[in-house]
Amino acid sequence: MQIIEKVTDLIHLSGKKPRVIASDVDHTLVDFDAGHDAGIQAIADVTDSKFAKRVDEIFQFLVLGNRKSVDEPWDQQELHDQLVASLQPHQAHDIEKYGIRKWSRESWILQTALEQNYPITQKFVTTVREAYWDAVAKHAELYPEVPEFFEWLQREKIPLIVMTGSDSVTDITEDPSPRLIYEPKASWDYKMKRLGHIPAQKVHIGDPFDKPHQAFFDGVYASARALGAQSPKEVWFVGDSKGGDLDVPEKDGYLTFWLRRPKDDK
Ligand SMILES: [Mg+2]
Repeated sequence: MQIIEKVTDLIHLSGKKPRVIASDVDHTLVDFDAGHDAGIQAIADVTDSKFAKRVDEIFQFLVLGNRKSVDEPWDQQELHDQLVASLQPHQAHDIEKYGIRKWSRESWILQTALEQNYPITQKFVTTVREAYWDAVAKHAELYPEVPEFFEWLQREKIPLIVMTGSDSVTDITEDPSPRLIYEPKASWDYKMKRLGHIPAQKVHIGDPFDKPHQAFFDGVYASARALGAQSPKEVWFVGDSKGGDLDVPEKDGYLTFWLRRPKDDK
């Protein structure tokens, strides 16, 4: 695994070129923080600043956990796992089949509403969710160097596979009490709307199997072969999350590049 500070570093690796690149999106190609911050502000506008602050806290902690390698010891792991477990009771879909959808903003909104005694209705959760994702879509932009990266891929005829995590967008039912229902296709469609500006030959979204599930990566490998890669070493994986984006392809013999912007090292 090599460490890089921006995706354009891949252009300058001496004499090497991949057949295919598989790249993460959020925090790798897209400055998701700018979108998320706008999303949190939008939540504050439809609720209040205390509510928005709690939703943001949940997000930041899950992102921190996601950046850890799966086998890296972390002193906050137990707290992280407790938080994820606390989201489970809100999720009414088949957890056995689909797992806990920890990135579901709706589950953070429900959890916060419970903690802060907000009246929980389908309309409330949907309104807050839409306010958040609308603001994200408007404000999450490509990092400044990414257009140069796209130009290089095009010039060198290197196909791009986008491999992005699920946003786990859910439906909300009020009967018998407010719970969330995850339906993979609807969640996939919702996220796809946000990826239109990325010139990818193939898109993989973590619905229903999300990174770092082996089934997710097996799908990406199949796409890489279909796009001309004849061996794992011809495929470069890049992402900001070691555990989410890179540990599995690294284990499977692919070349991996861990994008660590200096400001991400918290
Ligand atoms: Mg990422």
